[in-house]
Amino acid sequence: MNLSSRDKASIWHPFTQVATAPDNLAIVKAEGVWLYAEDGRKYLDGTASWWVNAHGHAHPHIASRIAEQAKELEHIIFAGFTHKPAIELAEQLLKLAGAPFGKVFYSDNGSTAVEVALKMALQYFHNLGRPRNRIVAFQNSYHGDTFGAMSVGHRNAFSAPFGQLLFEVDFLPPPDQTPPGKLLDQLREVIQTGTLAAFIFEPLVQGANGMRMYPAETLDALMDLCQQAGVLCIADEVFTGFWRSGKPFASDHLSRRPNLLCLSKTLTGGFLPLGATLAPDFVFDAFRSTEMHKTFFHGHSYTANPLSCTAALASLELFDEQKRRRIEEIGQWQSQFCKALKSHPALLDARCLGTILALELKTEAETGYLNPVASEITAFFLNKGIYLRPLGNVIYCTPPYCIEKTELEFIHNSIAEFLDQRMSTSVAPNP
Ligand SMILES: *Cc1c(COP(=O)(O)O)cnc(C)c1O
Repeated sequence: MNLSSRDKASIWHPFTQVATAPDNLAIVKAEGVWLYAEDGRKYLDGTASWWVNAHGHAHPHIASRIAEQAKELEHIIFAGFTHKPAIELAEQLLKLAGAPFGKVFYSDNGSTAVEVALKMALQYFHNLGRPRNRIVAFQNSYHGDTFGAMSVGHRNAFSAPFGQLLFEVDFLPPPDQTPPGKLLDQLREVIQTGTLAAFIFEPLVQGANGMRMYPAETLDALMDLCQQAGVLCIADEVFTGFWRSGKPFASDHLSRRPNLLCLSKTLTGGFLPLGATLAPDFVFDAFRSTEMHKTFFHGHSYTANPLSCTAALASLELFDEQKRRRIEEIGQWQSQFCKALKSHPALLDARCLGTILALELKTEAETGYLNPVASEITAFFLNKGIYLRPLGNVIYCTPPYCIEKTELEFIHNSIAEFLDQRMSTSVAPNP
C-alpha cells in the first residue's frame, strides 16, 4: 500500500471534508521551493506551506542548528527553568519589534499566541482592580481555532456548531469595505461603555478570510481612539510577521504602535511550532505582585521548546541583506503581475502587499471559503506542478523567500493561463 492509502486508514486531517476531498498527497522530500511527492512528481510550493515557510524547505542552516541543539538540550520545563535559545530569541524579537515591547511570553502556535494576548489584556485590567471584559474585533477576521481565538474571529460555518459557547465580542464591519468614519463611530460607541479591554486585529491584511487588504491610515485612526481610552491594541501578526508584508512586521507600516504582538507561523522559518506574545513593561508590571492571584497562570508543556527557539534564531540569521533584497524583489514581481491583471475580466479584484498576491475570481457561487471553485483551482495547478490552496474564490500566492524570478514567473504564467481559460470556457459571468 502506498502512503496515501495508509493515511486514509488512520488519519483525520485538518480542514478536510473526507467525503469529497481527493486523497492527501504524500510528500517524501522537500527542498527550497519544491515538494517531492510519492508518485515521483514535484510541486512548487506557492503557499509557503500554509504561510509558515521563510527560506525554503529543509534549509541546511536551520536543519543543522536544530540537530546540534537536539544533542545538547532538547527540552526543559519553562517554569523555574530557562535556557540560552529562549533568552537569545527573546532578545532578538524585542530588538526586531522595537518599542514599546519589553517582554516575550512563549507558547506553541498562532492560536495560543492569541489566547495569551487576550488573557493578558483581560487580566491586566482585573489586576488593576478596574475590570473590563469586552473585546472588539473586525468582521472577516481570523485569529485561530481554539475557543478564545474562535470567539474573536469572524462567525461563520466553521464556528457555527459552537456559536452559543463563544464569548460575546463587538464586531466592527469589514475594514476593507467600510468608510473609516463609520468604523470610528462604531468603535467610539463601544469605547463609551467603559468595558472595552482590547481591540484585536490582523494589521493591513485579513489573511484566512480572503487576503482582504485595508489601509494603514484606517487602522492608525482606530488604534489612536483605543489608546486614548486605555484600550490595549493587539496586533495578530501570526501571518504577517517576518517580512511577509515587505517589512519585518505589518505594524511597521503604521504610525501607531500596538500594545501586544502575536507571532507564530514563519517565526521558526517553518521548521517547528512556536508561538510568542510580546508585551510592554507596563502590562508585565501589572502582574508583578506579592499577591499570588495576580500571576499569569498560563503555560504549555512545550513552552519555549529549545529546538523551536533555535530554529527561530537560525531563521532570523538568514534574513541578511541579500534575503531582504530578494523579499523586496518578490514584492516588485508580485505587484507588476498584480497591476497587469487589474482589469482581467475573470477577476473581481487583484491586490498585493509585500510578498502577498491575492486574486479574487468572479464566480456564480457566493464568494467565500466554501466556494466550490477552490477544488477546481487546486487541481488545475497541481496538474501544472504548482501547489496553490485558494481561499474559496481567492487565489493567493505567498512564496518562500528563496523563490527565483523564473519560478515565480512560472506561477504567474500558470495563473494567467487559468484566468484566460476561464474566460474562454465562459464559466465566469459578464465576460
Ligand atoms: C494562522 C493564523 C492563526 C492561527 O495560528 P495556528 O498556528 O494555526 O494556530 C492566528 N492568527 C492569524 C492571523 C493566522 O493567520
